[in-house]
Amino acid sequence: MTSETFPNSKTVYGPVTSWRFGESLGIDPIFETSTCSFNCFYCQLGHIQNITTLQRVYVPTEKVLKDFKEALDSSKKIDVITYSGSGEPTLASNLGEIVLGIRKLAPEIPQFLLTNGTQFHLDEVKENIKGIDKIIFKLDALTEKEFQLINRPAPGVTLKLIKENIKTLKENYTGDLEIQTMFMPLNSSDLKSYSEFIAEVKPKTVQLNTPKRPYPLSWHRENRGNHNAIFDYEVRDLRTVSQEEASDIEKELRQNTSAEIISIYRN
Ligand code: SF4
Repeated sequence: MTSETFPNSKTVYGPVTSWRFGESLGIDPIFETSTCSFNCFYCQLGHIQNITTLQRVYVPTEKVLKDFKEALDSSKKIDVITYSGSGEPTLASNLGEIVLGIRKLAPEIPQFLLTNGTQFHLDEVKENIKGIDKIIFKLDALTEKEFQLINRPAPGVTLKLIKENIKTLKENYTGDLEIQTMFMPLNSSDLKSYSEFIAEVKPKTVQLNTPKRPYPLSWHRENRGNHNAIFDYEVRDLRTVSQEEASDIEKELRQNTSAEIISIYRN
């Protein structure tokens, strides 16, 4: 894989082959540097440069749409469009405009959003995500203490807020809802409260992950995207859960929830 695959001047990257969604074209409405309301200790972007809950335009809509049109014209196949990139996409106050603009240019391609759920109590964010076909929430922690250790959020962001945001969204959202959890030795002890929450929210799908990609020790825009490329910079390996532990988690969820379970160990 060459640097041209992830040109640094573009807000659109890929398509990259996702084990879940096929050829996924990434949209980065943050772009300028890594910016997120979390600073997860396993983040593929490395240590987040700008840890914030600030809603603003991070990159102009026109630039994203221009980059998207170019990618659309030059890509052979795009199965899905995924909002992710250089941080938390819902921090971008122009996300709704971007979603609508892309819908006009490619009405047939489904649009997915990867999010940490920290902004969904805001009316403007609820408005911005209306055109999204599938929302994939990150939920890694089972207790407030684990949440602070794993996701290292911006001041004022709590696990309670995120759980409330997910529950409220579920009541009104007509698209698909998925919960994605990064399991690691830190958070795999209290499964009961996790499966109770899943049973209450009833997401269509739960995706069980473990940090198989190493943690980059510096920020590079090439880190965007769900890919397995090895880049030439320093990284630190992370502790994963074993296949046996992942099977136990899966078993617990199958017994207590009706969600479709997808595990990184089986795919
Ligand atoms: S929420 Fe995503 S982008 Fe933000 S720090 Fe965590 S893994 Fe990185």
